[in-house]
Parts: sequence; structure tokens; C-alpha cells
Amino acid sequence: MSQFSFPIAPETPEERSLRRRVRTFLEAERSSGGFQPVADCWVSGVSPAFSSKLGQQGWIGMTWPTRYGGQALPTLHRLVVTEELLVAGAPVAAHWIADRQSGAQILKFGTEAQRQSILPRIAAGKCYICVGMSEPQAGSDLAAVTTKATKTPSGWTLSGRKIWSTVAHISNYMIVLARTSPAEGKNRHVGLSQFLVDLTLPGIEISGIRDIAGHTHFNEVVFDNVQLTEDALLGTEGDGWAQCMGELALERSGPERFLTTFLLLERALAEMPAAFPPAIVGDLIARVTTLRIMSRGIARRLQAGEHPDTEAALVKQLGNAFEKHLFTAVRHILAAYPEAEVPVELLRLRDEVQLRLPSNTLRGGTTEILRGVIARQLGVR
Ligand SMILES: Cc1cc2nc3c(=O)[nH]c(=O)nc-3n(C[C@H](O)[C@H](O)[C@H](O)COP(=O)(O)OP(=O)(O)OC[C@H]3O[C@@H](n4cnc5c(N)ncnc54)[C@H](O)[C@@H]3O)c2cc1C
Repeated sequence: MSQFSFPIAPETPEERSLRRRVRTFLEAERSSGGFQPVADCWVSGVSPAFSSKLGQQGWIGMTWPTRYGGQALPTLHRLVVTEELLVAGAPVAAHWIADRQSGAQILKFGTEAQRQSILPRIAAGKCYICVGMSEPQAGSDLAAVTTKATKTPSGWTLSGRKIWSTVAHISNYMIVLARTSPAEGKNRHVGLSQFLVDLTLPGIEISGIRDIAGHTHFNEVVFDNVQLTEDALLGTEGDGWAQCMGELALERSGPERFLTTFLLLERALAEMPAAFPPAIVGDLIARVTTLRIMSRGIARRLQAGEHPDTEAALVKQLGNAFEKHLFTAVRHILAAYPEAEVPVELLRLRDEVQLRLPSNTLRGGTTEILRGVIARQLGVR
């Protein structure tokens, strides 16, 4: 077990004060009709107006240097803000991916011109970016991507098809994983590169895919001989696999991997407190408290410049199981009452959570893949 490290990071007075400010802001927004809480808000709650308001508060790109529109604050401060936004069900989907991972990729691998032009717009809540990893035949087996970028005298030509691209339909850019040279025998991790692709370029077609709940939050994106300039290459040619793995660690490590159903518990406890046996509430709170401590440990390590990739996989795996456990517990409690006695809004939320739940264990890496990542660190694989 010593292979895994989750340092304890007690909340500081500054973090507590920030948490109070975020709660006050969210309460004011909610009560003035600024938003209606939604389950799975980091994917389903798109509101450019709300993203701009968060930008004005300085709560996007918080950890980035001030010269790029950030606040140069610790990762743990960002964690406070993201926890509060998720629990409130705030509409944060438009900017979530750009804030969580794409901005960090641009900060690390982008050109100075890209940093100066894109990061301040993300921090203002006005520029959105999506993830272009998965393809129809390359999900868990990501190294199987066939989207291809070929060198031209002035840059690159990009052709291929990405799928399940969350918020691509409202995004300004996609970070695309593409093959730039052939695999070397069985080593398919070589010859892959990342590209920062402006989604307004000719030859790009974006079509929405409807999920089981009837929402269109993800897309298929086709690139047909799209002409990219040289600086579209993000980072180093051939280093795309390693860059992608770093990006995935950011994608998997946040509280959105265990808090997407928490809103349901909060609402149910507020509306029908007498319905909840203390033992069930205690069990749920014990689980989420443990996950929060682990999540804070990961944030602290990220803050120290470390790479807690396996710990992130561990929290996502346990977190997704918790989200399902929470939903099942609340559903069983509500089922003991005639529907007419349960507030309509609570029933709506319960149904929304139920329809969204199956995607949690797929997106960002499936449970089976994450278990394999954990086992590999123990030398079992
Ligand atoms: C809501 C949602 C949003 C998403 N957003 C994005 C996005 O923005 N950008 C993006 O690039 N992708 C996105 N994805 C795609 C997501 O990353 C993939 O769905 C995921 O990686 C699984 O790939 P797949 O769907 O091809 O399933 P498959 O890889 O075909 O897997 C199917 C099943 O087989 C299992 N399996 C596969 N290989 C193994 C193995 N070696 N051992 C054991 N079991 C295995 C899997 O665990 C899974 O249960 C999103 C997915 C969802 C559901």
C-alpha cells in the first residue's frame, strides 16, 4: 500500500473564507434565478453567462500566473471552488474542461502567443475547449487512434473522426490526439502528437449525439483535410501519448468524479429530512468524507508539481462507485413513499441522476481500465 500517497491537507483559514464567499455567491445567484441546479452540472449545465460571472469573480484558471489572466492561487483553492460549484449543481459545463485540463496543457506546451491569446479568454469564461481523444474504434484502447496529421510545407493536414467530444458544439478549440508517424511494431505509443485545433477552420463538421436522457452534450467531430498552421502542434511531435496521460491525470483527479449525485442527497435531506435513517446518512457522509480527504491529498500533490496519476485513478474508481451507492440509497428511501408525497422537483432530480449515472463509469476512463492502472502500480499486471 505504500505505493499510494494521499497526504493530509487540512483546510486553511484562507480556504474556509473562500468557501464562504463561493457559497454566498452561489446562494445569491440561485435565489435571484441566475441558475437552476442541475445534476451532473459539469457536463449538462451549459451557461456562457454564468461562466462569465465566474470569470469576473476570478474563479476560472485560478492557479495560472496573473500575466495569463489567472490568480496564481494554490490548487487547493481551486478545489474549494470546484467542490462548491458541483454540490450546488451550478451550470459550469461550458468552461469546465478548459479550466480543468486544456488550459494547463496550453500553459505547459503552448507557444507564448497561444498562452497570451487563449488563457486570459478562458479565465474570463469566454473561451471553451474540448477533448479530442476517443474515436469510434479507440476508447479504452486509446493508442489505436487513426486520426492522422501529415506534414505540409506550411503546417499540417488533419483527417479523421473523433467521438463523444463533450461540449465540442460550443467550443472554440479541441485538443486532438493524432498519429503523426507509424507505430514501431508493438509500441503504438510512439508517433502520436497533440494539436490545438481552431474549430472554426474549414473542413470540420460537428454533429451532436443525443444521450439516453435526451440531452446533446457530446458530439462526433469529423476532420476532412483540415489545414493547420505549424503552431497548431501542441508540445513536441511524437510526445502526444505522454502529454495525453498528463492531461488524463488532471481529467480524472477532481471532485467531479464523486460529487455528481451529491445534489440529490442534499435536496432530499432538505425536503424530506424525517425520511432518512441516520445510519444511511452516516454511511454516505463517511464515504464522501474519505473521498474528500483523498481528493485533497491529490490536489496537494498536484500543487507540489507531482504526478499522482494512480491515486487519481483510485479516487475515480471509488468515487464513481460512491455516486451510484448514493443514488441507490436515496432511490430506495423515496420509493417507500407514494410519489404524490414526494416533491415534484425531487422526483425530477432523481430521474435525471438515474439517466446520467451510467456514463460516469465510462467517461474519463472506464472502471475496468482504472482498476488495471491501479493493479499495474502494484506490479500485479
Ligand atoms: C458522457 C461521456 C463523455 C465523454 N466525453 C469525452 C470527451 O470529451 N472526449 C473524448 O475523447 N472522449 C470522451 N468520452 C469517451 C470515453 O473516454 C470512452 O467512452 C471511454 O474511454 C471508453 O471507451 P469506449 O466507449 O470506446 O468503450 P470500450 O473501450 O469499447 O469499452 C467497452 C467496455 O469494455 C471494457 N474494456 C475495454 N477494454 C478492456 C480491457 N482491456 N480490459 C477489461 N475491460 C475492457 C470497458 O471497461 C467497457 O466496459 C466520453 C464518454 C462519455 C460516456
